[in-house]
Amino acid sequence: MEKVGFIGLGIMGKPMALNLRQAGFPLTVYNRTPGKTKELEAAGAQVASSPAEVAAASDIIITIVGDAPDVKEVIIGSQGVIQGCRPGQVVIDMSTIPPHTVREVAAALAAKKVDMLDAPVSGGEGGAIAGTLSIMVGGKAPVFERCLPVFRAMGKNIVHVGDIGAGQGTKLCNQVICALTLLAACEGLILAAKAGLDPEKVLEAIGGGAAQSWTLSNQAPKIINGDFSPGFMVKHQRKDLRAVLETAAQLGVSLPGTGLVYQLYNTLADEQYQEIGNQSLIWALERLAGVEARRVK
Ligand code: NAP
Repeated sequence: MEKVGFIGLGIMGKPMALNLRQAGFPLTVYNRTPGKTKELEAAGAQVASSPAEVAAASDIIITIVGDAPDVKEVIIGSQGVIQGCRPGQVVIDMSTIPPHTVREVAAALAAKKVDMLDAPVSGGEGGAIAGTLSIMVGGKAPVFERCLPVFRAMGKNIVHVGDIGAGQGTKLCNQVICALTLLAACEGLILAAKAGLDPEKVLEAIGGGAAQSWTLSNQAPKIINGDFSPGFMVKHQRKDLRAVLETAAQLGVSLPGTGLVYQLYNTLADEQYQEIGNQSLIWALERLAGVEARRVK
């Protein structure tokens, strides 16, 4: 079996890495905050003290961190993967970042004869824990084939969508649809609350009809139960919408709905909101409507 390295044990990374161990892959992990490696260590993973050390111990190196500067730091930075890599390895970045950053990082790795795939994911924390993520992969076909067993340990719907950067391009489309679906769910709940309907009954009634979606099943119940803990943090949601709108501007395409959701998230731009769940989009609408969309006690 290929030796796998894993960098970034956050909400998504930790369960994904645990699933790789569960599938039997020899694993070396790194996390910036050391305390978060305990569960992996208990599951039999080796713990490295830098991304470069992870690279030296691995054949395939996975990163899932935060934004573009974070990906650049852990892959091509002074302690990054590139400092410990050797020809024939593969680096897979599974964070959500703009396609142009992926291509820049891939070019730096190619100079060292290291291949790269961009493989962002969808399915949330629940999908990461269950190993049922959707994985959209960009890069060379033979490299994708080589890495399929690794992807299969973490996901179910695994699609090679094109050359390097195409995975992130696909993920941006996913983020447009998810953000607008969340806005739709929030507006439905606001209308229900304003009309004096029981939101729990509303969700029960419409959840099996044409309105059904992952968002309605997973996020709307959290909203009405007042659970704003993060599955997907506001800071990551805002980063993704920024990337979508920058890409749209470069392509000269108008995405008015996405622009609207981004503006609403700007009401949650204060530091205190950055690490709560993105379902807190409802707060922006609650302020406008003067009503709270919560379960009837
Ligand atoms: P998270 O809980 O914030 O975890 C981020 C991880 O990356 C942490 O382990 C963090 O280390 C590490 N990290 C961040 N910046 C770093 C840097 N500069 N150097 C070294 N390590 C760094 O985030 P997440 O929810 O797992 O999301 C990770 C990525 O997946 C993001 O790009 C996000 O947009 C994407 N994503 C998330 C979801 C979701 O539902 N949560 C779904 C699909 C895609 P520390 O522990 O030291 O902070």
